[in-house]
Amino acid sequence: MTSLQPIRGTHDILPDEYPRFAHVVEAARAVTRLYGYREMATPVFETTEVFARTSGETSDVVMKQMYSFVDRGGDPLTLRPEYTAGICRAFITNGQQQNVPFKVFAWGPMFRYERPQKGRYRQFYQLDIEVIGSPEPGADVEVIAVGADILDRLGVLKDCVLELNSLGDSESRAAHRKVLIDYFKAHEARLSEDSKSRLERNPLRIFDSKDEGDRALLPNAPLLKEYLTSSAQGFFAGVLRGLDDMGIAYRVNPHLVRGLDYYTHTAFEFVTTNLGAQGTVLAGGRYDGLIEQLGGPPTPGIGWAAGIERLMMLAGAPESAPRPVALVPLGEAAERKALSLARDLRRRGIAVELDYKGNMKRRLQRANKAGARAAVILGDNELAKGVAAVKDLDKGEQKEVALAALAEALSG
Ligand code: ATP
Ligand code: MG
Repeated sequence: MTSLQPIRGTHDILPDEYPRFAHVVEAARAVTRLYGYREMATPVFETTEVFARTSGETSDVVMKQMYSFVDRGGDPLTLRPEYTAGICRAFITNGQQQNVPFKVFAWGPMFRYERPQKGRYRQFYQLDIEVIGSPEPGADVEVIAVGADILDRLGVLKDCVLELNSLGDSESRAAHRKVLIDYFKAHEARLSEDSKSRLERNPLRIFDSKDEGDRALLPNAPLLKEYLTSSAQGFFAGVLRGLDDMGIAYRVNPHLVRGLDYYTHTAFEFVTTNLGAQGTVLAGGRYDGLIEQLGGPPTPGIGWAAGIERLMMLAGAPESAPRPVALVPLGEAAERKALSLARDLRRRGIAVELDYKGNMKRRLQRANKAGARAAVILGDNELAKGVAAVKDLDKGEQKEVALAALAEALSG
């Protein structure tokens, strides 16, 4: 029998690596809390319609990346490819309309059937924030600032550029759409098959194509910024002004569009040159029509998502975990006493290594391997006196400590 293999495009996060993962989540948790975002979670699967309705049928995600299946009850379900749609669904089905602005932080696994490579997986993890119910440009500025501060806390902001663009409102989009379709129609033979099928449905998406032939047509394509209504222009100016006031550097990129169909007004990405083709670390935008498309009342929203694996590749190592102490009982009575002693110390917040068996030599070897700062040696003599021998494993010094005073002595 051949041995079982992990699924292509998935990866394990082993204990050596996990602190880097947790460090990214912790940084996001700490920063979002400072801005008043509350943490939440939604299920990893939803009815397929939640994503099909919102991401747009022309998006890469819906066209080729969704893990969709019919469950035993016959319902079409999809493993979430992103968080926004699920959070908006949760906002509606839990009647959170009275709780706006609904400012939330979430993280968890996402699933997309794509070609695995460095920084691109089929199961990957995202950080995500959303602000639902705020139509003001100030919300756009705030979510971008939260992203910048998380990147800064991880030490990667200096390696990233914030690019942003306005995708306008529906009026701007309709005006632009016409000329864009004309332009691409004139060059239809050079378009990829995917882009041909996007042409009538959502030509803007062609700006996000990774196909070489499509990309060659982009430098001369008519830009949305020439077609923004004055109110859309005013909105974007408000966002840029707020970023200036916050001291956040940016570059307006008139070619930037986002991978999902539901964006309006602000679209942005923090991009780095340090990850090859997978340079986008954090990306998002405003999605004022999304909640309505899900069947909720018209409600504006804005948010972003960031790939945790990509952040892990860029971020420095976190502070290492506090070092444990090792309990070294010698003999049966001491071994039994060690069980309650270890439990007591752990309840007082001290990390304790206690081997299930072994002689002194073996236990001390294990203590070193675990990086223990001290060994607490407990033999029959010590037990009789109600003490333990505490050996500082860095300095080699040893002293006797009463069992009752052990927790205090080890806390320092
Ligand atoms: P890309 O252009 O790299 O495919 P995207 O536009 O599909 O990105 P989003 O849907 O905006 O990405 O997701 C937000 C972030 O999630 C990305 O910027 C990236 O950091 C991360 N991400 C997206 N897809 C993957 C993946 N397959 N593996 C790892 N991280 C991913
Ligand atoms: Mg993608």
